[in-house]
Amino acid sequence: MIYQRVALIGLGLIASSMAHAMRAGGLAGEIVGYARSAETRSIARDLFCDRVCDTAQEAVQGADLVVLCVPVGAMGALAAEIGPHLAPGATVTDVGSVKQAVIAAVAPHMPAGVHFIPGHPMAGTEYSGPRSGFATLFQNRWWLLTPVEGTDEGALARLRGLLEGMGANVDTMDAPHHDLVLAVVSHTPHLIAYTMVGVADDLRRVSNSEVIKYSATGFRDFTRIAASDPTMWRDVFLTNKDATLDILGRFTEELFALQRAIRLGDGDHLHAYFTRTRAIRRGIIEAGQDTSAPDFGRVPAKGL
Ligand code: NAP
Repeated sequence: MIYQRVALIGLGLIASSMAHAMRAGGLAGEIVGYARSAETRSIARDLFCDRVCDTAQEAVQGADLVVLCVPVGAMGALAAEIGPHLAPGATVTDVGSVKQAVIAAVAPHMPAGVHFIPGHPMAGTEYSGPRSGFATLFQNRWWLLTPVEGTDEGALARLRGLLEGMGANVDTMDAPHHDLVLAVVSHTPHLIAYTMVGVADDLRRVSNSEVIKYSATGFRDFTRIAASDPTMWRDVFLTNKDATLDILGRFTEELFALQRAIRLGDGDHLHAYFTRTRAIRRGIIEAGQDTSAPDFGRVPAKGL
């Protein structure tokens, strides 16, 4: 056991997956939870929490680890609410997808003697809510920590132990770099997926039924990403504004260059570009972050 009492605040996909993984690994003595709605609290009580409280303040009392698992935009108000009730020596971490904004919102509310170590599991699905979690979500996935200078080494090592116990690989980096990396690998791709699905929806010359019927040709993978939780993604773009605007600017330039190559019939440009990008996919497979099976090893759905 690594922590005696872990308080999970917000009980959706990430928190429920953490609870299942902590239980499976015997990593926490007691798992206490709090969520905004009575319905979520009741599901969590039945499925994965030892104890569920009616307020966040009550849930964090006596916890040696507190994990903030709410949307990024809700972190600041939550930190203000729980700050005075945190146990001396406790560690507080979060799982927010953006780090600079979360640190700015949360750190001012952390009392002296409490270790705030921001984090971000790079694992998720397009499902949300307390029923969507599963114990293996973090298996062989990266969990990034962005500790500020002067972070207590013992508290950091202990948190790392918990995350590794849930199957994650842990890396540390500074918060601005995290936000730039995530703008490239996650935030901007999500925005592009939302746009592509929106374009298909707006286009009246191709019917919705055709889009859905023939989606296996590429569109289907955009739809999975574009089905992600709207609140979470609204908050990501509102709080990682600079980095996503930077990457979107570069993306738009590249898109125009490819558009021009298509217009001019510049096959060499297109071929060279696609050859370079193919190598990235190979790198992801070699790093063990995805399967090499064709079409991600999918079994065709019934009727395809
Ligand atoms: P989720 O399944 O939608 O769950 C969010 C939880 O937060 C719910 O229990 C919800 O309570 C609660 N909540 C929402 N707004 C709140 C507020 N204003 N005050 C208090 N509680 C509130 O979300 P999730 O996917 O677990 O994401 C949680 C965090 O993890 C987010 O910061 C997200 O950026 C980060 N993250 C997500 C992924 C992913 O792929 N999903 C991956 C990595 C990191 P109710 O159920 O009662 O409404």
